[in-house]
Amino acid sequence: MSNVVHDGIIDGKALAAQVQQRVAAAVAELKQKHGFVPGLAVVLVGDDPASAVYVRNKGRRTTEAGMKSFEYRLPADTTEKKLLERIAALNASDEVHGILVQLPLPKQIDPAKVIDAIAPDKDVDGFHVINAGRLAVGRPALVPCTPLGCVLLAKQARADLTGLEAVIIGRSNIVGKPLAQLLLNENCTVTVAHSRTRDLPEVARRADVLVAAVGRPELVRGDWVKPGAIVIDVGINRVEGKDGKARLVGDVAFAEARGRAAAITPVPGGVGPMTIAMLLANTVRAACMQRGVDLPEALAGL
Ligand code: NAD
Repeated sequence: MSNVVHDGIIDGKALAAQVQQRVAAAVAELKQKHGFVPGLAVVLVGDDPASAVYVRNKGRRTTEAGMKSFEYRLPADTTEKKLLERIAALNASDEVHGILVQLPLPKQIDPAKVIDAIAPDKDVDGFHVINAGRLAVGRPALVPCTPLGCVLLAKQARADLTGLEAVIIGRSNIVGKPLAQLLLNENCTVTVAHSRTRDLPEVARRADVLVAAVGRPELVRGDWVKPGAIVIDVGINRVEGKDGKARLVGDVAFAEARGRAAAITPVPGGVGPMTIAMLLANTVRAACMQRGVDLPEALAGL
Protein backbone atom coordinates (compact mmCIF):
# COMPACT_ATOMS: atom_id res chain seq x y z
CA MET A 1 0.00 0.00 0.00
CA SER A 2 1.29 3.47 -0.75
CA ASN A 3 2.20 5.98 1.90
CA VAL A 4 -0.72 7.66 3.66
CA VAL A 5 1.24 9.54 6.37
CA HIS A 6 1.94 13.16 5.48
CA ASP A 7 3.31 15.76 7.92
CA GLY A 8 2.60 13.39 10.78
CA ILE A 9 -1.07 12.96 9.87
CA ILE A 10 -2.33 9.48 9.06
CA ASP A 11 -4.89 9.85 6.28
CA GLY A 12 -7.66 7.36 7.05
CA LYS A 13 -9.64 8.33 3.98
CA ALA A 14 -6.74 7.51 1.67
CA LEU A 15 -6.03 4.23 3.47
CA ALA A 16 -9.71 3.27 3.34
CA ALA A 17 -9.72 3.91 -0.42
CA GLN A 18 -6.74 1.55 -0.79
CA VAL A 19 -8.46 -1.13 1.28
CA GLN A 20 -11.62 -0.69 -0.80
CA GLN A 21 -9.62 -1.22 -4.00
CA ARG A 22 -8.09 -4.39 -2.60
CA VAL A 23 -11.54 -5.63 -1.60
CA ALA A 24 -12.82 -4.95 -5.13
CA ALA A 25 -9.88 -6.92 -6.58
CA ALA A 26 -10.60 -9.81 -4.19
CA VAL A 27 -14.30 -9.80 -5.12
CA ALA A 28 -13.47 -9.89 -8.83
CA GLU A 29 -11.11 -12.83 -8.24
CA LEU A 30 -13.72 -14.79 -6.26
CA LYS A 31 -16.28 -14.25 -8.99
CA GLN A 32 -13.91 -15.32 -11.72
CA LYS A 33 -12.27 -18.29 -9.97
CA HIS A 34 -15.11 -19.59 -7.81
CA GLY A 35 -18.25 -18.16 -9.38
CA PHE A 36 -19.74 -16.39 -6.37
CA VAL A 37 -20.19 -12.81 -5.21
CA PRO A 38 -20.01 -11.94 -1.48
CA GLY A 39 -23.19 -10.36 -0.10
CA LEU A 40 -23.72 -8.11 2.92
CA ALA A 41 -27.10 -7.59 4.61
CA VAL A 42 -27.59 -4.54 6.81
CA VAL A 43 -30.64 -4.29 9.04
CA LEU A 44 -31.81 -0.95 10.41
CA VAL A 45 -34.61 -0.77 12.95
CA GLY A 46 -36.18 2.65 13.45
CA ASP A 47 -35.35 5.99 11.92
CA ASP A 48 -32.36 7.38 13.82
CA PRO A 49 -30.92 9.84 11.26
CA ALA A 50 -27.23 9.10 12.06
CA SER A 51 -27.83 5.35 11.73
CA ALA A 52 -29.67 5.88 8.43
CA VAL A 53 -26.61 7.74 7.05
CA TYR A 54 -24.26 4.93 8.18
CA VAL A 55 -26.49 2.28 6.60
CA ARG A 56 -26.71 4.18 3.32
CA ASN A 57 -22.92 4.58 3.19
CA LYS A 58 -22.36 0.91 3.93
CA GLY A 59 -24.73 -0.10 1.14
CA ARG A 60 -23.07 2.26 -1.35
CA ARG A 61 -19.55 1.08 -0.53
CA THR A 62 -20.61 -2.55 -0.70
CA THR A 63 -21.91 -2.22 -4.26
CA GLU A 64 -18.92 -0.04 -5.25
CA ALA A 65 -16.67 -2.95 -4.23
CA GLY A 66 -18.66 -5.25 -6.55
CA MET A 67 -20.52 -7.07 -3.78
CA LYS A 68 -24.23 -7.61 -3.30
CA SER A 69 -25.92 -5.31 -0.81
CA PHE A 70 -29.18 -6.15 0.95
CA GLU A 71 -30.83 -3.49 3.04
CA TYR A 72 -33.71 -4.05 5.45
CA ARG A 73 -35.43 -1.08 7.07
CA LEU A 74 -37.83 -2.09 9.80
CA PRO A 75 -40.16 0.29 11.67
CA ALA A 76 -39.22 1.60 15.15
CA ASP A 77 -41.95 -0.51 16.78
CA THR A 78 -40.64 -3.81 15.34
CA THR A 79 -40.84 -6.58 17.94
CA GLU A 80 -37.78 -8.55 19.03
CA LYS A 81 -39.44 -11.69 17.64
CA LYS A 82 -39.87 -10.11 14.20
CA LEU A 83 -36.22 -9.02 14.10
CA LEU A 84 -35.05 -12.47 15.19
CA GLU A 85 -37.12 -13.99 12.37
CA ARG A 86 -35.44 -11.66 9.87
CA ILE A 87 -32.01 -12.71 11.18
CA ALA A 88 -32.93 -16.40 10.95
CA ALA A 89 -33.88 -15.88 7.29
CA LEU A 90 -30.58 -14.11 6.58
CA ASN A 91 -28.64 -16.84 8.39
CA ALA A 92 -30.25 -19.34 6.01
CA SER A 93 -29.67 -17.34 2.80
CA ASP A 94 -26.91 -18.54 0.44
CA GLU A 95 -26.54 -15.06 -1.04
CA VAL A 96 -25.87 -13.36 2.30
CA HIS A 97 -22.39 -13.92 3.75
CA GLY A 98 -22.35 -11.05 6.23
CA ILE A 99 -25.08 -9.73 8.53
CA LEU A 100 -24.92 -6.43 10.35
CA VAL A 101 -27.65 -5.13 12.61
CA GLN A 102 -27.17 -1.40 13.08
CA LEU A 103 -26.94 -0.41 16.76
CA PRO A 104 -28.42 1.15 18.84
CA LEU A 105 -31.73 -0.73 18.73
CA PRO A 106 -35.08 0.52 20.06
CA LYS A 107 -35.74 -0.16 23.77
CA GLN A 108 -38.07 -3.15 23.28
CA ILE A 109 -35.23 -5.16 21.67
CA ASP A 110 -32.39 -6.73 23.65
CA PRO A 111 -29.17 -6.20 21.61
CA ALA A 112 -27.44 -9.18 23.25
CA LYS A 113 -30.21 -11.53 22.05
CA VAL A 114 -29.93 -10.11 18.55
CA ILE A 115 -26.14 -10.48 18.40
CA ASP A 116 -26.41 -14.04 19.79
CA ALA A 117 -28.85 -14.90 16.97
CA ILE A 118 -26.47 -14.00 14.13
CA ALA A 119 -24.60 -17.03 12.78
CA PRO A 120 -20.99 -16.52 14.02
CA ASP A 121 -19.59 -17.10 10.51
CA LYS A 122 -21.82 -14.28 9.16
CA ASP A 123 -21.13 -11.94 12.10
CA VAL A 124 -19.08 -9.35 10.15
CA ASP A 125 -19.25 -6.90 13.08
CA GLY A 126 -17.40 -9.49 15.18
CA PHE A 127 -19.65 -8.87 18.20
CA HIS A 128 -20.79 -12.48 18.75
CA VAL A 129 -19.30 -14.12 21.87
CA ILE A 130 -17.98 -16.94 19.66
CA ASN A 131 -15.93 -14.44 17.65
CA ALA A 132 -14.81 -12.58 20.81
CA GLY A 133 -13.68 -15.94 22.20
CA ARG A 134 -11.94 -16.97 18.99
CA LEU A 135 -10.04 -13.68 18.97
CA ALA A 136 -9.10 -14.06 22.64
CA VAL A 137 -7.58 -17.53 22.14
CA GLY A 138 -5.97 -16.74 18.79
CA ARG A 139 -8.21 -18.74 16.44
CA PRO A 140 -9.40 -17.44 13.07
CA ALA A 141 -12.24 -15.03 13.87
CA LEU A 142 -14.34 -12.23 12.48
CA VAL A 143 -12.93 -9.23 14.38
CA PRO A 144 -14.75 -5.91 15.04
CA CYS A 145 -14.12 -3.45 12.23
CA THR A 146 -13.10 -0.33 14.17
CA PRO A 147 -10.23 -1.98 16.09
CA LEU A 148 -9.05 -3.68 12.87
CA GLY A 149 -8.91 -0.22 11.28
CA CYS A 150 -7.01 1.21 14.26
CA VAL A 151 -4.24 -1.38 13.96
CA LEU A 152 -3.90 -0.86 10.22
CA LEU A 153 -3.69 2.91 10.75
CA ALA A 154 -1.02 2.55 13.46
CA LYS A 155 1.01 0.28 11.18
CA GLN A 156 1.11 2.98 8.51
CA ALA A 157 3.22 5.02 10.93
CA ARG A 158 5.37 2.07 11.96
CA ALA A 159 5.14 -1.27 10.20
CA ASP A 160 6.32 -3.31 13.21
CA LEU A 161 4.74 -2.49 16.58
CA THR A 162 6.66 -5.23 18.43
CA GLY A 163 7.70 -4.33 21.96
CA LEU A 164 5.91 -0.96 22.00
CA GLU A 165 3.89 0.22 25.00
CA ALA A 166 0.27 0.56 23.90
CA VAL A 167 -2.29 2.37 26.04
CA ILE A 168 -5.96 2.13 25.05
CA ILE A 169 -8.34 4.49 26.82
CA GLY A 170 -11.78 2.83 26.82
CA ARG A 171 -12.79 -0.76 27.55
CA SER A 172 -15.89 -1.26 25.42
CA ASN A 173 -16.68 -4.60 23.79
CA ILE A 174 -16.71 -3.04 20.34
CA VAL A 175 -13.47 -1.05 20.49
CA GLY A 176 -11.25 -1.17 23.60
CA LYS A 177 -11.30 -4.88 24.47
CA PRO A 178 -10.88 -6.34 20.97
CA LEU A 179 -8.22 -3.73 20.21
CA ALA A 180 -6.28 -4.90 23.27
CA GLN A 181 -6.27 -8.44 21.84
CA LEU A 182 -5.16 -7.23 18.41
CA LEU A 183 -2.32 -5.15 19.82
CA LEU A 184 -1.21 -8.12 21.93
CA ASN A 185 -1.08 -10.09 18.68
CA GLU A 186 1.18 -7.31 17.34
CA ASN A 187 3.47 -7.96 20.35
CA CYS A 188 2.71 -4.69 22.11
CA THR A 189 2.67 -4.40 25.90
CA VAL A 190 -0.94 -3.40 26.38
CA THR A 191 -2.61 -1.31 29.08
CA VAL A 192 -6.37 -0.77 28.97
CA ALA A 193 -7.35 2.41 30.84
CA HIS A 194 -10.93 3.46 31.60
CA SER A 195 -13.14 5.77 33.64
CA ARG A 196 -11.77 4.43 36.95
CA THR A 197 -8.09 4.55 36.02
CA ARG A 198 -5.97 6.54 38.49
CA ASP A 199 -3.86 9.37 37.06
CA LEU A 200 -4.90 8.82 33.45
CA PRO A 201 -2.55 11.50 32.02
CA GLU A 202 0.44 9.72 33.58
CA VAL A 203 -0.70 6.34 32.22
CA ALA A 204 -1.24 7.86 28.77
CA ARG A 205 2.25 9.38 28.79
CA ARG A 206 3.74 5.85 28.91
CA ALA A 207 2.29 5.07 25.49
CA ASP A 208 4.25 4.61 22.29
CA VAL A 209 0.86 3.85 20.76
CA LEU A 210 -1.98 5.81 22.36
CA VAL A 211 -5.56 5.01 21.38
CA ALA A 212 -8.49 7.07 22.66
CA ALA A 213 -11.91 5.39 22.44
CA VAL A 214 -13.92 7.21 25.07
CA GLY A 215 -16.52 9.53 23.57
CA ARG A 216 -15.37 12.68 25.46
CA PRO A 217 -14.46 15.65 23.27
CA GLU A 218 -10.73 16.43 23.45
CA LEU A 219 -10.23 14.55 26.74
CA VAL A 220 -6.63 13.74 25.81
CA ARG A 221 -4.52 16.89 26.01
CA GLY A 222 -1.24 17.55 24.28
CA ASP A 223 0.84 16.95 27.42
CA TRP A 224 -0.68 13.44 27.79
CA VAL A 225 1.16 12.44 24.63
CA LYS A 226 4.68 11.03 24.84
CA PRO A 227 6.89 12.78 22.29
CA GLY A 228 7.17 10.54 19.24
CA ALA A 229 4.03 8.50 20.01
CA ILE A 230 1.52 7.21 17.46
CA VAL A 231 -1.92 8.56 18.38
CA ILE A 232 -5.14 6.93 17.12
CA ASP A 233 -8.31 8.88 17.87
CA VAL A 234 -11.47 6.77 17.71
CA GLY A 235 -13.80 9.33 19.28
CA ILE A 236 -16.55 10.98 17.26
CA ASN A 237 -18.09 13.86 19.19
CA ARG A 238 -20.46 16.49 17.88
CA VAL A 239 -19.80 19.86 19.52
CA GLU A 240 -20.91 23.40 18.86
CA GLY A 241 -18.17 25.56 17.35
CA LYS A 242 -17.56 29.25 18.18
CA ASP A 243 -19.66 30.18 15.14
CA GLY A 244 -22.60 28.22 16.59
CA LYS A 245 -22.31 25.52 13.93
CA ALA A 246 -21.98 21.83 14.85
CA ARG A 247 -18.62 20.23 14.13
CA LEU A 248 -16.97 16.88 14.81
CA VAL A 249 -14.06 16.50 17.19
CA GLY A 250 -12.25 13.46 18.48
CA ASP A 251 -11.27 12.38 21.98
CA VAL A 252 -7.85 13.99 21.46
CA ALA A 253 -7.09 17.72 21.38
CA PHE A 254 -5.70 17.41 17.87
CA ALA A 255 -3.77 20.69 17.51
CA GLU A 256 -1.99 20.18 20.87
CA ALA A 257 -1.26 16.50 20.36
CA ARG A 258 -0.03 16.90 16.82
CA GLY A 259 2.97 18.89 18.01
CA ARG A 260 4.19 15.94 20.13
CA ALA A 261 3.04 12.87 18.24
CA ALA A 262 5.12 11.27 15.48
CA ALA A 263 1.82 10.48 13.75
CA ILE A 264 -1.82 11.08 14.57
CA THR A 265 -5.22 10.35 12.99
CA PRO A 266 -7.55 13.32 12.41
CA VAL A 267 -11.28 13.49 13.16
CA PRO A 268 -13.00 13.33 10.76
CA GLY A 269 -10.94 11.46 8.18
CA GLY A 270 -9.07 9.01 10.41
CA VAL A 271 -10.62 5.95 12.04
CA GLY A 272 -14.16 6.62 10.71
CA PRO A 273 -13.58 5.81 7.02
CA MET A 274 -11.55 2.73 7.98
CA THR A 275 -14.46 1.14 9.83
CA ILE A 276 -16.55 0.68 6.66
CA ALA A 277 -13.50 -0.44 4.66
CA MET A 278 -12.78 -3.18 7.21
CA LEU A 279 -16.45 -4.19 7.15
CA LEU A 280 -16.11 -4.88 3.43
CA ALA A 281 -12.93 -6.86 4.01
CA ASN A 282 -14.68 -8.84 6.78
CA THR A 283 -17.55 -9.65 4.40
CA VAL A 284 -15.12 -11.13 1.87
CA ARG A 285 -13.40 -13.06 4.67
CA ALA A 286 -16.75 -14.39 5.89
CA ALA A 287 -17.75 -15.42 2.36
CA CYS A 288 -14.47 -17.30 1.88
CA MET A 289 -14.91 -19.09 5.22
CA GLN A 290 -18.45 -20.14 4.29
CA ARG A 291 -17.44 -21.31 0.81
CA GLY A 292 -14.28 -23.04 2.07
CA VAL A 293 -11.96 -21.13 -0.27
CA ASP A 294 -8.70 -19.31 0.50
CA LEU A 295 -8.79 -15.57 1.10
CA PRO A 296 -7.63 -13.87 -2.13
CA GLU A 297 -4.05 -12.61 -2.13
CA ALA A 298 -5.30 -9.01 -2.44
CA LEU A 299 -6.54 -9.16 1.14
CA ALA A 300 -3.42 -10.66 2.71
CA GLY A 301 -2.54 -8.81 5.90
CA LEU A 302 -5.99 -7.26 6.31
P1 NAD B 1 -18.45 3.28 25.15
O1 NAD B 1 -19.26 4.38 25.73
O2 NAD B 1 -19.01 1.92 25.02
O3 NAD B 1 -17.12 3.14 26.00
C1 NAD B 1 -16.40 4.26 26.45
C2 NAD B 1 -15.27 3.83 27.34
O4 NAD B 1 -14.60 4.99 27.78
C3 NAD B 1 -15.71 3.06 28.58
O5 NAD B 1 -14.96 1.87 28.66
C4 NAD B 1 -15.35 3.97 29.76
O6 NAD B 1 -14.77 3.26 30.85
C5 NAD B 1 -14.32 4.89 29.16
N1 NAD B 1 -14.41 6.23 29.75
C6 NAD B 1 -15.52 7.00 29.89
N2 NAD B 1 -15.20 8.18 30.46
C7 NAD B 1 -13.88 8.16 30.69
C8 NAD B 1 -12.96 9.06 31.24
N3 NAD B 1 -13.35 10.26 31.69
N4 NAD B 1 -11.67 8.69 31.34
C9 NAD B 1 -11.27 7.49 30.88
N5 NAD B 1 -12.09 6.59 30.31
C10 NAD B 1 -13.37 6.91 30.24
O7 NAD B 1 -17.91 3.85 23.77
P2 NAD B 1 -17.40 3.11 22.42
O8 NAD B 1 -18.53 2.48 21.74
O9 NAD B 1 -16.17 2.31 22.70
O10 NAD B 1 -16.99 4.40 21.58
C11 NAD B 1 -16.02 5.32 22.03
C12 NAD B 1 -15.96 6.49 21.09
O11 NAD B 1 -15.56 6.03 19.81
C13 NAD B 1 -17.28 7.23 20.84
O12 NAD B 1 -17.00 8.60 20.61
C14 NAD B 1 -17.80 6.60 19.57
O13 NAD B 1 -18.65 7.49 18.85
C15 NAD B 1 -16.52 6.36 18.84
N6 NAD B 1 -16.58 5.27 17.86
C16 NAD B 1 -16.12 5.53 16.62
C17 NAD B 1 -16.12 4.54 15.67
C18 NAD B 1 -15.58 4.85 14.31
O14 NAD B 1 -15.91 4.20 13.35
N7 NAD B 1 -14.71 5.84 14.20
C19 NAD B 1 -16.60 3.28 15.96
C20 NAD B 1 -17.04 3.01 17.26
C21 NAD B 1 -17.02 4.02 18.21
